[in-house]
Order: sequence, then C-alpha cells, then structure tokens
Amino acid sequence: MEALKNFTLSDLYGKLSLPENEFENYLIELKLLHHHRVCECGGKMSRKGYAGRKHGTFRCTSRDCRKEKGFLVGTFFEGTHLTVKEVFQLAYFWSQNLTAEEFLQFQMKREDGTEISSATICDWKQFFRDICVEYLRRNTVQLGGPEKIVEIDETVISRRKYNRGRMVAEQRWFFAGVERGTNKVFFEEVEHRNAETLLPIIQKYILPGTTIMSDLWRAYFRINELPEGYRHLTVNHSTNFVDPETGACTNTIESYNQKFKARHKREYGTARSLLAQYMY
Ligand SMILES: [Zn+2]
Repeated sequence: MEALKNFTLSDLYGKLSLPENEFENYLIELKLLHHHRVCECGGKMSRKGYAGRKHGTFRCTSRDCRKEKGFLVGTFFEGTHLTVKEVFQLAYFWSQNLTAEEFLQFQMKREDGTEISSATICDWKQFFRDICVEYLRRNTVQLGGPEKIVEIDETVISRRKYNRGRMVAEQRWFFAGVERGTNKVFFEEVEHRNAETLLPIIQKYILPGTTIMSDLWRAYFRINELPEGYRHLTVNHSTNFVDPETGACTNTIESYNQKFKARHKREYGTARSLLAQYMY
C-alpha cells in the first residue's frame, strides 16, 4: 500500500468522483481487486457482464468450463451491502483515526439521504482491526538487541461486538512488545499473566542484550535473571522509567504514546496501554 502513503482527503475525493468503472480500475491497479483470475481448471477467467449487472463476474475462458465467479469474491469488498467506494472511504477514514460514528454517518450520507447504520460501522471497524492484527501475526519478527529498547505490557482488550442489536463486551488478554524507534511489534494472546507464561514469550521475541521496559507487574521481576542478559527498567508512574539497579529516572514517554492514548480513549472509553495501539 506504498501508493497510499501520502494519500490525502483531496486525493480521496478525486478518486471517489471517478465513474464506477474507472474507480474499479484504480483499485485493480492497487491490487485490491482482481484484473483477471485463474479458474480451478487452470484456465484464465476474464470479466464478463460488466455493463449489465452491477460488477459483472469472472468467467473461465476455457471452452469446456465456462465456470463463473463473482467479481468481488475473495476480496476486501466481498459480502457487504456497502458499495466499493463506501468501503474504500471507510477504510481511509479509519486509517486517519476519523472513526467517530456521527462523523462517518454525516460524511458518508448517501444521495437518497440514507445513512450507514451503527451496526455496519461497528462491524467494519472490527474488520479493519482484525486485518491489522492478522498482519502483525504473520509479520512478527524478533525485536531489540544491544542498545535497543523494547517496551512490554499486558493489555486487556474489550472487543465491542454488535449482538442482537446491542453492543456487548468480550475481554481478552494480550501480551505485547514494541521496539522504540522502529515500531516493530510482537504480541500474543495469553490466558494467564504469570511469569511461566510471559517470560518464555519474552525470550521468544526479544533478542539478547535488549533493554526491556515494563510496569511493576510481578511476573516481570525475573527478567534480569534470564540468560539473555536483558536490562530491565520499570515504570511506576506514567511518565518516569526507573532503573531498579541505579535508581535513575528517564523521561522517555514519547508523543505517540499520548496520541495513542487519546485515540484509544476516544474509541473505547478508557486508556489501557500504549501497546494496544498496535492491536486496535
Ligand atoms: Zn475453468
């Protein structure tokens, strides 16, 4: 998605004003939609029936096959009553932290006056988060090393789900770490928050010689004793990190932590942890 790195609101509205087929071609360029597909039989599928039906379908060009597949099947845009443009717009707003329901409903009001429902907005936000979580799960690497700082934290995430017309909360614990300066991340869902659970995860993801920062949770007390030679700093108020050996204070909270807290608070009501930024 390198092409979208400097994508502004005016770019967005420029693209949204394109005729439907040109907008779809743009999404094909971004590889968000398929230009053609390969059939189960190995034949090439090309797009058919585009003008008549809404998006048309892909149909196998092999003479004895002619199998068809919906244009949006297997893409980001499948299985929603929102239009392709609406999904794109929602995703853009979400990526820019513009997630307030009233804002989205107002900005995305349709020409016929209808609004996107709360339930739909809630579902899409969840879906975008799930995609980010899945991306991180597939792309975790080891973090840290000598001279590097990794912050770790356990975080409870309340997933808000729309169930039978009302929001319900489901709580899950995650353990996560972020490397200062690079924003490399690891995280795992955990059932327990004891040393037996957390220390092996630290050893799995954090390279020897790393400086690890955490809160005073007792599961972390033996980090200094691990054979990896970690240096462990703890924080007991929100702005000061204290080295338990030297007693030195370092004022290390960075602005993005604050920014994250504001965002998390806006979306979920409470500020839980800087690391939740990467999960939600
Ligand atoms: Zn075929």
